[in-house]
Amino acid sequence: MIETYDIAVIGAGMAGASIAAELADASDPNVRIAIFEGEDYPGHHTTGRSAAFREECYGGPDVVPLTLASGDYLREGGFLTPRGGLYIAREGQEGEVEAFRQRFAGAGVEMNRLDRAGLEARLPGVRAEWTQALSQPNCADIDVAALHQHYLGRAKAAGVTLLVRHRLHGATHEGDQWRLDFGAAGEAKAAIVVDAAGAWADRVAAMCGARPVGIQPLRRTVAQLRVDPLPAADLPLTLDIAGDFYFRPDTGRIWLSPHDETPSEPCDAAPEEYDIAVAIARFEEVVDWRIEAVERKWAGLRSFSPDRLPVYGFDQQRDGFFWFAGQGGFGIQTAPAAARFGAQLLLGDPRDAMTQNLDHGLYSPERFGSESPA
Ligand SMILES: Cc1cc2nc3c(=O)[nH]c(=O)nc-3n(C[C@H](O)[C@H](O)[C@H](O)COP(=O)(O)OP(=O)(O)OC[C@H]3O[C@@H](n4cnc5c(N)ncnc54)[C@H](O)[C@@H]3O)c2cc1C
Repeated sequence: MIETYDIAVIGAGMAGASIAAELADASDPNVRIAIFEGEDYPGHHTTGRSAAFREECYGGPDVVPLTLASGDYLREGGFLTPRGGLYIAREGQEGEVEAFRQRFAGAGVEMNRLDRAGLEARLPGVRAEWTQALSQPNCADIDVAALHQHYLGRAKAAGVTLLVRHRLHGATHEGDQWRLDFGAAGEAKAAIVVDAAGAWADRVAAMCGARPVGIQPLRRTVAQLRVDPLPAADLPLTLDIAGDFYFRPDTGRIWLSPHDETPSEPCDAAPEEYDIAVAIARFEEVVDWRIEAVERKWAGLRSFSPDRLPVYGFDQQRDGFFWFAGQGGFGIQTAPAAARFGAQLLLGDPRDAMTQNLDHGLYSPERFGSESPA
């Protein structure tokens, strides 16, 4: 017998787990929802590889509303640990610092200027050429695994079925129903497909006969370093104003990224030695700490639409196909508001206090028109 669902969510990363939970809680208990995940367990891809911070400017001014709207949910749920962030700059980069501040003026992000003395107090060992910073007091670490499990747990409690080792291979639209082909794992039917497939979002769209919007996976690398002196637990997340690296402490170690964005096919991403070397070279220009070992390294795919904003909403040409993709480098910190908003759009429900300030025009798939992506 082929199981029939009202809603089939494809992908059990942060996007799929969170929207399934919000959909289930906002729906009648008779509404049948399933999450189909191709891997052996949820979170194997990008969600399991994040750098786990909430930085209010990350993703640009049009992502800020999603990040700010998610803040209370993350704080009240106990998913955040305050850290503070610093965008650091060298002597001569005053113009870039001011341009950055101006770009986010009026966005609701708290930012304060620090001089060399203020920077040194927050980042002991910082080299002399770094003379200024913008500090962001609301920056925090996110417990990504706890948040992901929270959404999977909420979904399960509300009756959502999670099916792992169910990779969507093809789909046909018959009448007002999707017939979904999971290869050896069988078939299912559903009225609505939610595309929460991360790096594979365009491929899932194409399988369903929807026009891909141009979701591009970009590889991002992180190295875990053992350094001397041991990093203080309260060191800030440190990013440079030019966007060439970031690092933060994690239980006695440093997580460092060269801020790489290498285009990739959707895949099980792996780190390249070159990117680790670049990261270390940049890090050594920032602080005088000694690197004792690269203990661990990993990479993941951050997936962006052509304008680098996420894509939420029904496809205009393909009935019953809902986009929930393009979460880029901000899909954890924006998850609560994005999922609530996505569920409201899908169910036709009104906005609530969390989502009232979001502008759907920024995130709708309609903004890409009906032309095929380049
Ligand atoms: C190195 C790195 C650092 C990051 N740091 C941060 C950070 O500090 N803060 C932040 O907010 N964000 C961060 N991000 C971004 C964040 O991790 C992502 O935005 C988020 O995890 C995306 O979630 P997702 O559910 O869309 O994708 P994924 O977690 O990749 O989930 C998609 C799922 O869909 C499944 N799937 C794909 N195709 C199919 C199919 N055909 N059938 C069934 N299942 C399928 C996949 O197996 C996968 O499990 C970072 C990302 C990286 C790589």
